[in-house]
Amino acid sequence: MACQQFDLVADFLDIPDNLRDRLKLPRRALTVSIPVRMDDGSTQVFTGYRVQHHLTLGPTKGGIRFHPDVTLGEVAALSMWMSWKCALTGLPYGGAKGGVCCDPGKLSVGELERLTRRYTQELIPFIGPQLDVPAPDMGTNEQVMAWIMDTYSLQVGHCVPGIVTGKPVGLGGSLGRRESTGRGVAYLVSRAMDTLGIPADGATAVIQGYGNVGSVAAISLAKQGVKITAVSDAFGGIHNPQGLDLMALNEYVAKNKTVVGFPEATSVSNAELLLLPCDILIPAALERQITGENAARIQCRILAEGANGPTTPEADVILSQRPDIFIIPDILCNSGGVIVSYFEWVQDLQSFFWGEGEVLDKLFRILEQAFGQTFQLHKKRGVSMRFAALSLGIKRVWEAKQTRGLYP
Ligand code: GLU
Repeated sequence: MACQQFDLVADFLDIPDNLRDRLKLPRRALTVSIPVRMDDGSTQVFTGYRVQHHLTLGPTKGGIRFHPDVTLGEVAALSMWMSWKCALTGLPYGGAKGGVCCDPGKLSVGELERLTRRYTQELIPFIGPQLDVPAPDMGTNEQVMAWIMDTYSLQVGHCVPGIVTGKPVGLGGSLGRRESTGRGVAYLVSRAMDTLGIPADGATAVIQGYGNVGSVAAISLAKQGVKITAVSDAFGGIHNPQGLDLMALNEYVAKNKTVVGFPEATSVSNAELLLLPCDILIPAALERQITGENAARIQCRILAEGANGPTTPEADVILSQRPDIFIIPDILCNSGGVIVSYFEWVQDLQSFFWGEGEVLDKLFRILEQAFGQTFQLHKKRGVSMRFAALSLGIKRVWEAKQTRGLYP
């Protein structure tokens, strides 16, 4: 998917054929074996990856995913999207992504800690505050980031908070980082609603994925008067056309670790949820959810991609014939996370920390600019919002590579 998108944009930007591989192929791709002592005394070897897409504009940046479906190809695609995302929002980073093929839900806290520390140990020659700065992604959280920071710091002999972002605030994390992706999604959705003339009050939203992105986006949108009518997680979904009571839902999720079974709602499958009529549809889970098979049947006015890569190229072709749907593409829509990661890194390097108001103000300013530039190109050149966002990102990296030249 990532390569197909790149090729289309490279044609549009007239990037000479012989320069395309330089932009497409990752700078480094690392595979590591991670032996972990399990609680029952056995040793299990997990496979982990870290792909660094380019180092032209600064260190590489991107999350670490713990999920059973992680593969090198997936991590490489996600690292490429991180590059375009960082360039689109003007961050001084190349893209990276990491992942370990495991099911974190089935590991004890001790096993998860040993897995994280050994994975970090294997990455040590390749990461650093000026080289590659990991962050959370699906299946990882602040605690995992704290273990990464601790393992790295012990190796180099002093505290290095700038090695990773998404840390707990008490360890040099940034205020507002945890909520930043979801808040950014909600900010961009309201910008899209303004553009399309949809009043927030009474609008309806359906959200696939009720993790760190989906649940925060839900609350932020509900505060603006949007009714959240359906949400889901890996186990299934719930639907109430009158709007879900999010306070009660969050209490239920804290207790039951799933949205499934929440009273005052009927159950829906993840596939059915995507087809529910609504004003705003937010896929905030895995890749490849809106496909050639269901794209003609989704019934929203705004498709806000909280996840990375939720829409396949086949679906994109179908959606390009549906002017009734306005897409906020992933590299724009979920960029709030890496933007505040950048703020966290800057604060760590300066050992000078900002208030939450300052973080949010700067976040919304960057989102506003990226949205404005993308929308302008979309209108001016008659290309889709995704194409516009990707072109802006790819063009900036391409220009930087050309200006730096090729050495030796
Ligand atoms: N994993 C997040 C993303 O896909 C955040 C990356 C970061 O903060 O570096 O954008």
